[in-house]
Amino acid sequence: MKHRPRKRFGQNFLVDSSVIDRIVDAISPQPGDHLVEVGPGQGALTRQLAGSGAQLTLIEIDRDLSAALAADPALSEVRLINADVLKVNWQDLARGRPIRLVGNLPYNISTPLLFHALASADLITDMHFMLQQEVVQRMAAPPGSKAFGRLSVMLQYRCRVESLFRVPPGAFRPVPKVDSAVVRLRPRSADQCQARNEALLDQVVSAAFAQRRKTLRNSLRSLLSADQITQLDIDPSARPETLEVTDFVTLADALADQSPD
Ligand code: SAM
Repeated sequence: MKHRPRKRFGQNFLVDSSVIDRIVDAISPQPGDHLVEVGPGQGALTRQLAGSGAQLTLIEIDRDLSAALAADPALSEVRLINADVLKVNWQDLARGRPIRLVGNLPYNISTPLLFHALASADLITDMHFMLQQEVVQRMAAPPGSKAFGRLSVMLQYRCRVESLFRVPPGAFRPVPKVDSAVVRLRPRSADQCQARNEALLDQVVSAAFAQRRKTLRNSLRSLLSADQITQLDIDPSARPETLEVTDFVTLADALADQSPD
């Protein structure tokens, strides 16, 4: 039976085979890899991934699509989980083997999924996602650029982020209103992520970018004084988008020093 795309699950299916090939090339699945595909949908990427020799796990929320995937003889070796990916326990899923996470993501869950996955970054080798291009630009934005903000800092602190290529709306059915892009994230090892307290890092970054046009002196007023910021070799009259990710870690560590344990 023909599937009617469900808006609430962000269903825009890939139909352009050259885009599908390009994504699979970027992932470069190898026999022995454990790939986890989020939102396989009608299997556009899935069939190619399944043919690569890698072990494949699918997580699909839509019951009808899951049933169709389960009945596909080309996917008989694949593990299929009919669930909301935001509720998945990565530890249980990984079963002791590192995961390579991939997916053409529904845009409404893309940011929560990134943070859900990064909370278990030690289990994840890399991630390849198709997302709204504007989100990918913010994720990969370098310090000093207009798009550099909270998402850029919090992701770049945990991962190397690479924007790979743009995908036009015509590659999907139904056709979305916005451009998409494919992004690669490679989690950094735990010893490279050195904020002493990541909750404080999030607090400093959120406060600094709450009103981007404010200087640090003003936006961080309730957390650190201008003198304290100067002592860290950071200019209190700077605006947040001019700082490096490491500067935010320095600010968060100063806050950790003065916070009771
Ligand atoms: N991968 C397919 C493709 O490229 O054609 C489908 C991509 S479509 C943009 C997003 C897919 O994610 C849909 O199949 C949708 O049902 C599924 N999905 C949406 N929300 C989900 C969630 N919370 N957990 C798991 N899958 C979800």
